[in-house]
Amino acid sequence: ERLVVAIDGPSGSGKSSTARGVAERLGLDYLDTGAMYRAATWLALHEQVDRTDRHRVSELVARARFGIDLDPRTATIAVDGVDVTTAIREPAVSAAVSSVATNLEVRHDLVARQQALIADSSRGIVVEGRDITTVVAPDAQVRVLLVADPAARVARRRAELGETVTADDVTDQVIRRDADDSTVAAFTEAAPGVTVVDSTHAGLDEVIGRICTLAEP
Ligand code: C5P
Repeated sequence: ERLVVAIDGPSGSGKSSTARGVAERLGLDYLDTGAMYRAATWLALHEQVDRTDRHRVSELVARARFGIDLDPRTATIAVDGVDVTTAIREPAVSAAVSSVATNLEVRHDLVARQQALIADSSRGIVVEGRDITTVVAPDAQVRVLLVADPAARVARRRAELGETVTADDVTDQVIRRDADDSTVAAFTEAAPGVTVVDSTHAGLDEVIGRICTLAEP
């Protein structure tokens, strides 16, 4: 049977590196659903749509064509033919993404697209996000909630962003996005049947190994 691995976790939990690593090791496709919310946000910013106008934002997203590359080694994303893989990581997108992700019409649309991508994957797929174990793929054979202490998550985010940012700025960002995201769903609590993996004191390879073990028949 086609393997589906669902991984949820807050920002800085090491979710993306972990999910990509699991996909590469198991030879599976890889879907970063956060990148889809970011791409929708990039589009709203690019089109200068008032983000408090929920219906206009969701209409804009509904008309958009997402080009999603499921190869874990590249994982590029395009919107209406424009490659936004780099642009969606910019601070302006990070700052605005929660406002688009709390738009329930947008969520409904993106969840349906994610489920279609999962259904179309013939090799099996690793899917990461916030609501994968609960909403997008509750029937996945492997369901993991990746957690880490806030201090460890701040340190990781900072390593990703480089020394150009202060620890205080990154702490503010991580804490603020936790708070913004917490209005969407109980992202930090594991649903029944979901395995909690704590990466606070574990290296990337160790965490990837643990999840791959869960995927063994
Ligand atoms: O994973 P990443 O931090 O890049 O996700 C960006 C944002 O997208 C999150 O802060 C959250 O607001 C939203 N998101 C979501 N549901 C998902 C994945 C991401 O609401 N499944």
